[in-house]
Amino acid sequence: KPSRSVDVVVLYAGMGVGHLLPMVELAKLFLSRRFDVTIAVPATPGSAATGSPTIAGIAASNPSVTFHHLPPPPSYADPDPNPLLLMLDVLRLSVPSLVSLLGSLPSVSALVLDIFCAEAVNAAAALHVPAYIYFTSSANTFATSLGLMYHDSTTTASLKDMGKAVLRFPGVPPVRASDMPSTLQDRESRFYKARTKLYACAMESSGVLLNTYEWIEARAVGALREGACFPGRPTPPVYCVGPLVGSGKEEERHACLAWMDSQPARSVVFLCFGSMGSFSAAQLKEIARGLERSGHRFLWVVRSPRQDPTNLLERLPEPDLAALLPEGFMERTADRGMVVKSWAPQAKVLRHAATGAFVTHCGWNSTLEGVASGVPLLCWPLYAEQWLNKVLIVEEMKAGVVIDGYDEELVRAEEVEAKVRLVMESDAGEKLRERLAMAKAKAVEALAEHGPSRVAFNEFLDRLVNSE
Ligand code: UDP
Repeated sequence: KPSRSVDVVVLYAGMGVGHLLPMVELAKLFLSRRFDVTIAVPATPGSAATGSPTIAGIAASNPSVTFHHLPPPPSYADPDPNPLLLMLDVLRLSVPSLVSLLGSLPSVSALVLDIFCAEAVNAAAALHVPAYIYFTSSANTFATSLGLMYHDSTTTASLKDMGKAVLRFPGVPPVRASDMPSTLQDRESRFYKARTKLYACAMESSGVLLNTYEWIEARAVGALREGACFPGRPTPPVYCVGPLVGSGKEEERHACLAWMDSQPARSVVFLCFGSMGSFSAAQLKEIARGLERSGHRFLWVVRSPRQDPTNLLERLPEPDLAALLPEGFMERTADRGMVVKSWAPQAKVLRHAATGAFVTHCGWNSTLEGVASGVPLLCWPLYAEQWLNKVLIVEEMKAGVVIDGYDEELVRAEEVEAKVRLVMESDAGEKLRERLAMAKAKAVEALAEHGPSRVAFNEFLDRLVNSE
């Protein structure tokens, strides 16, 4: 009996390390099921900070995955000065090149789109290729986004006018309007409108793959499945296939891991703020003082401050630690702390037995990596949907605590010290660790051969193959 011909799947990645890394992990999952996979990447640099892996670096670390570089879109009048909007424009204007790629491949079984590429759903429909969304943030964020869209279809107010008013959306913890992403605060803004359009396209897709596991977000997943988030508009089927977490190149072991090897179990506070997180010099000094006062061991990834705090895509030079950190800090903490410039192999550090707590900006990949490694989170949200993730982590998952002052100009050293001590020394910290041990066990279970996330992926594949 002839075997079935190889199924071809094209993934269209959004920009940025936090979108590309989980896309690569999804590609590997397809490969493990003998699909032929190509990741189409847009032409603009996918990373900002020094030390962040570039697309070329990510491709080199994942030789099993095929990358197709889309050509730069034809120049167009009036490029948007806002880097986020420019990114969305580039992704949309690259869709004709994506269509050419689809046309050049033998019959494509599915197109899988990052949420920022969701407008390609229409192009896929024209080609009769089923389109799916791969959502690289939480089910909670997806449910909240649909909830907000529905809410806004019933009111005219913008979030920015609602201040600390509490929003209640199905399946997610109550959230203050001011904790919603800053880019969504003004419904008249171009980004808000563009984003609403993307979610509307996502609702037209054949399904949504979520990089999460059901146990940590059962309520949000339930609300999505019931169609409760946007009443009256059918929500496509959702599949929780995570946590899909990368591990980087095995053969290159960063010096910080050797340092971790010599630290006692669960003794090190790890501080790392995503691919774009950066603080002012004044804030770095406060963090340093807080760590010093806490007396705990630490591994801290430090980036240079931004020239322009509003430009997340600014390329940052290597930090000058002597100038940025308090005088004598490195010497005084040499026996119990390590500072790494710009970039550390985060997923590996989190899995290391010496890691005891994680001070994080609450990016979704970081959240998943921390939770699936069983490490309590100290939440310091910075940008995008991270304030929302912080609410989920603390209120719903009960996986961490908030570093107060994240929404003010400066977080004080005393607060850093207090929260580090709380997690590392108190009964409350012990409770968190117990909760996280459970979350880790459930993540392992989710990814086991017959675990919920693998079963969900199989269901998705069955539907895909049978819809051909
Ligand atoms: N990351 C890393 N080392 C660093 C900073 C970030 O390995 O020094 C990785 C991190 O493990 C995660 C990704 O980069 O997989 C960042 O994604 P996340 O969604 O947490 O945040 P974003 O960068 O999108 O804000």
